[in-house]
Amino acid sequence: MPVTAIVGAQWGDEGKGKITDLLAQEADLVIRYQGGNNAGHTVVNEFGTFKLHLVPSGIFNPNATCVLGTGMVIDLATLRDEIRMLEGRGVSTANLRISERAHLLMPWHTALDRLDERERGRRKLGTTGQGVGPAYADKVARHGIQLYEVRDESGFRARVAHELETKNVILTKFGDAPLDARTVADGVLEAAAVLGDRIVDTLPIVEHAVATDARVLLEGQLGAMRDLDWGIYPYVTSSNPLAGFASIGAGIPARSITRVVGVVKAYSTAVGEGPFPTELAGEEANALRERAEEYGATTGRPRRIGWFDAVAARHAQRLNAFTELAVTKLDMLGSYEEIPFCTAYSLDGRLTSDMPPTKLLDRATPHYERLRGWCQDIGAIREQAQLPAPARAYLKRIEETVGAPIGMVGVGPERNATLLS
Ligand code: GDP
Repeated sequence: MPVTAIVGAQWGDEGKGKITDLLAQEADLVIRYQGGNNAGHTVVNEFGTFKLHLVPSGIFNPNATCVLGTGMVIDLATLRDEIRMLEGRGVSTANLRISERAHLLMPWHTALDRLDERERGRRKLGTTGQGVGPAYADKVARHGIQLYEVRDESGFRARVAHELETKNVILTKFGDAPLDARTVADGVLEAAAVLGDRIVDTLPIVEHAVATDARVLLEGQLGAMRDLDWGIYPYVTSSNPLAGFASIGAGIPARSITRVVGVVKAYSTAVGEGPFPTELAGEEANALRERAEEYGATTGRPRRIGWFDAVAARHAQRLNAFTELAVTKLDMLGSYEEIPFCTAYSLDGRLTSDMPPTKLLDRATPHYERLRGWCQDIGAIREQAQLPAPARAYLKRIEETVGAPIGMVGVGPERNATLLS
């Protein structure tokens, strides 16, 4: 297996965790390349059902090394708790390593995230309030603290006190309680004491893997529509889910990545605010949400639901050049006689299949084709050729409109409910 990046091609929650868990059975190294604990990857396998927020979804293969990459922002206490949860459920985390250059997500980031959302009022972004945006903002503003800095306790305490001088001014100005430097530093150092020997220079691990042709998986978080540069700004995440960033976030030369799997749901979902052209309302949305259990893995928030949007997935394809698509949750569309399928947007009297920037997208309305449904349960099918003809036609239309071949089709949440071509 070459170096493979697994990338969300919609708004996030496409099922990347399941695809990573599946491909990780044959991987030597699995690296999460961006994001923090603001979204969860759901994995269903022989160990049970897991919602992973920080740990790579390859953790269930005891022979694979898993790395939290440099491109991540990491809340050490949350990571410690996630590791304890995994160990408590019989999953070894002995092979888990954390990049010493990744940035710490500190308690003030969480406080500032919530403050920011509150102060934006009606224009809130719908963040999960975990502090990921402010942690990346500090990284870019050169106020971030990298993980290796916890090794120097007095230097770390001084950094915390220094950062809190300005952060507390903001917090108190908006009526929030100031944070105590000693308490904050104690909390992070306590977690660091548990995780300390896992915090390493991950570059030699990655370099060795590439040099020995090891099988490497790069796992992204969220999806192209939430990409900081190419998504629906400002309703985006604060990092880049696109495959181009996998190279940076994992510390792997760009030309080593030869396979890019774009994960798409057979319909669309979104958590948080921002334009979502194919969004459904009322009963139609409720019915699919309930059937497909579309509730956020981190917050439990009901996800917004819409029909498949080929403009959005094609936008992701243009930016990632997927070598293949993994289509998930096809099994959830089994009760429709006809399925609307968005191939273009109507915008100011014109049809377009290019993705307009956010404020124009707000005005765009979806142009639908109506594809035939299959009106049957396909959850037990284990070969693509056995799928009913209308389901195969639906997949073919995805290939044609997005412009990439389909390699995998999900018909259930379990690892083995994936049809390979
Ligand atoms: P991720 O963040 O991209 O990993 O996506 P999430 O884990 O947030 O959401 C995907 C949800 O869909 C999870 O609950 C998965 O267990 C589930 N899932 C993934 N693939 C399939 C599939 O093919 N069929 C069904 N029914 N569920 C799936």
